Amino acid sequence: MVNLGQDLYVKVPLGTVVKDLETGKILADLSEKGQKELILPGGRGGKGNSHFATSTRQVPRFAQDGEKGIELEVLLELKLLADVGLIGFPNVGKSTFLSIVTSATPKIADYHFTTIIPNLGVVKTEYGDSFVIADIPGIIEGASEGVGLGLQFLRHIERTRLLLHFIDVSGQEGRNPVEDFYVIQNELKKYNEKLSKRKQIIVANKIDIMQDEKLYNELEKVAKKENMEIFKISAASKEGINELMTYVAKILKDLPKEDLIESDQKIVYTLEDKKEFEVEKKGNVYIITGPGIERLMRRVNIQDRESMYYMQKNLLAMGVDAELKSLGIKEGDTVKILDWQFEWYN
Ligand code: GDP
Ligand code: MG
Repeated sequence: MVNLGQDLYVKVPLGTVVKDLETGKILADLSEKGQKELILPGGRGGKGNSHFATSTRQVPRFAQDGEKGIELEVLLELKLLADVGLIGFPNVGKSTFLSIVTSATPKIADYHFTTIIPNLGVVKTEYGDSFVIADIPGIIEGASEGVGLGLQFLRHIERTRLLLHFIDVSGQEGRNPVEDFYVIQNELKKYNEKLSKRKQIIVANKIDIMQDEKLYNELEKVAKKENMEIFKISAASKEGINELMTYVAKILKDLPKEDLIESDQKIVYTLEDKKEFEVEKKGNVYIITGPGIERLMRRVNIQDRESMYYMQKNLLAMGVDAELKSLGIKEGDTVKILDWQFEWYN
């Protein structure tokens, strides 16, 4: 019987980006429901021994190995697909706002298997359509350098079309709105330049307990300077929320559908362009390098016989033996792999 290897498909949540772990290159961006991507083509199938059966040789004794497929380590990264992202320091009122403007139960069905996911809420607009808001846990200073929890969440706002930048203008806890604005702005820029240029609206929250109008006025000047709209609201008293949401719904109609920041990087491997190893011949020395070899050697313990046998088997399967022979390797020649040196024997 011909033995066909079946493609293996793995279910992932919507918004998953598949990257080559070594290069960081994007292999697939699963942003549509039901989307299916073949990440790696398999090797050509082998032939089982019955394939070689003929009328004269009834009991075949040999089979042909299948060609080894590409081996690759991939990183699966989940990036939310929301229209609007809420950003800002912790405690500025993002979650309160989300709970007010969206249906009571956050719609997180597609992301149910993880608990470190920001909250999503669906807003129904007066035009009869709806959009999704993601409440990103507070970005804190240093987030783009991986300090605190910030960084792992920043990627979730990469694909939002609009950012609502929440700022506490109450003057509580000695916070300075202008300073806060620029701290977050810098974090965005450091994380991703394009992200910092995304359409952004400043939301001045907690005006119900604002102690000094001056703090708001200064922020308003910044908004003008940065060419951003600013809205004054109170998530507690709901003042200003309708105006803000009407505006958001209106501009979302004109903002382009999420543009995938890294779409230009997307690559697809084929068996031809993913060379797993390279052999360089220098006299009687053969130097083997390449990603496949490095991955293999990471799994090998040279002191261990079993492990060495495993390595030999893999070198054979990868085609290293064949390549060495075609280059004319002879008994006693030297084979170098990374830091190791071996003597070749047949
Ligand atoms: P987040 O960390 O940005 O999500 O902030 P939260 O929504 O958790 O709010 C932090 C605190 O600020 C909570 O105690 C809220 O009740 C309070 N808060 C949020 N919005 C307002 C507001 O407009 N006025 C007042 N007085 N308190 C608010
Ligand atoms: Mg919150």
